[in-house]
Amino acid sequence: MPDHPEGCSLSLFQLLEGDPVATVVIDAEHRIVHWNRACAALTGLAAIDMVGTRDQWRAFYADSRPILADLLVDGASGERIAQLYGGRSRPSESIEGAYEAEDFFPQFGSSGRWLFFTAAAIHDAEGRVVGAIETLQDVTERRRAEAALRDSEACLAQIVDGSSVAMLVINAEHRVTHWNRACEVLTGRLARELIGSDQHWEAFYPTRRPIMADLVVDGASEAAVDRLYHGRYRPSALLPGAYEAEDFFPHFGDGGRWLFFTASPLLSPAGEVVGAIETLQDVTERRRAEDALRDSEERYRKLSLTDPLTGLFNSRHLRDKLHQEVERAGRYHRPLCLLLLDCDHFKRINDSYGHLEGDKVLQALALAINRCLRRSDSAFRHGGEEFIVLMPEAGAEAGRVLGERLRACFAAEAVESANGEAIRCTVSIGVAEYRAGDDEHMLIRRADEACYRAKGLGRNRVVVAGSDD
Ligand code: GH3
Ligand code: MG
Ligand code: MG
Repeated sequence: MPDHPEGCSLSLFQLLEGDPVATVVIDAEHRIVHWNRACAALTGLAAIDMVGTRDQWRAFYADSRPILADLLVDGASGERIAQLYGGRSRPSESIEGAYEAEDFFPQFGSSGRWLFFTAAAIHDAEGRVVGAIETLQDVTERRRAEAALRDSEACLAQIVDGSSVAMLVINAEHRVTHWNRACEVLTGRLARELIGSDQHWEAFYPTRRPIMADLVVDGASEAAVDRLYHGRYRPSALLPGAYEAEDFFPHFGDGGRWLFFTASPLLSPAGEVVGAIETLQDVTERRRAEDALRDSEERYRKLSLTDPLTGLFNSRHLRDKLHQEVERAGRYHRPLCLLLLDCDHFKRINDSYGHLEGDKVLQALALAINRCLRRSDSAFRHGGEEFIVLMPEAGAEAGRVLGERLRACFAAEAVESANGEAIRCTVSIGVAEYRAGDDEHMLIRRADEACYRAKGLGRNRVVVAGSDD
């Protein structure tokens, strides 16, 4: 066993021997006095070959040069140390007079190792340097993890900055870390104003409130998301903890914009939420196109149900509606009444004033019908100068009363012809009440027969099917 630096007892070396941290101790003459098992394992050099020699450099370098411990034994200056370690050394923050450095050693392991080493001088009771101790820690995994993190951050920055979709990223403290060019264009807010701040809400809302990314960072429950985006959001079908929504932002652009946005958590390798990424797309044009389509569909639907001359429902709609009402009356034993109106001597009107004036009379009749109807009734142009009124929840008497009102109302009106003449016209009306077992045709036929009787009785009158008059 070689001499030990004064003050270093044998038992201390025994302690170091079992230490999992690689440790080498040299004396004032730079001779190795201790090379522990962990050091042998790390460097691949056995204590038996090293202790007593000055070959410590061999473990780390191809050529002879001082290691950190040698420099401390020599009382080398900070500059000298920095020079030898290419700037990768610094005085230790925790141990007075000690130095530390980090360096890469390509010869260790299969693809090299990063070592972090700390060296401190050993002094005797008089303060003379009697040796130095150096510890070596393999920090390759930490360096790799840091590099991977740096890579993934650089990768995220590239994805976000290179995307033509507006994107923003916030961290776990709700501070903006990325705000790409597309997001600047969409929101009108610059990245340099927002990165590092938690003021991103300003870009979207007039008063402070969380945006979707904030809720995702907080791991907000669906109930919490629902409170802020009621009916306009859904949890992502693909990503747990992610949401998507479509909402109208009234103070965006001229007259507001519709935005479709998604927010997803950013997870650390350990699975904890370290931020959130939100994408935003302006879908105003699509929404407007959808609204226009809905409007035109609605208009078309109405057109397909109405008669162009009178604006009343057409005979196609009558077929559907009458079928429904007859079914309903039959199934639920509810009353239903049908009125059939036929203009009196309409041929004469056409003959006297012309077809166009005849059309005007039909339009006037349609207006009169609309004026007299109850809210639940509906009126149809059955064909030519014949009209039908359906009265759900009404019996024959209610039908007769309405028919009479209609008849009187129309008879009292005159339509002014192009050359100023007053055209007068009347209607004959047949009223039929639904009877159990009736189908649509039977109901119309009875109303038609009643109308025919009204004609026979002198026209301009109301006849109820099944009655005597
Ligand atoms: P009645 O009192 O017996 O019903 O006599 P009428 O002349 O009305 O006889 P009818 O019901 O048989 O004739 C209906 C006439 O209505 C025949 C047709 O020229 C006319 N007509 C049908 N559709 C239209 C229309 O859209 N516009 C005009 N101006 N006339 C029509
Ligand atoms: Mg007719
Ligand atoms: Mg007629």
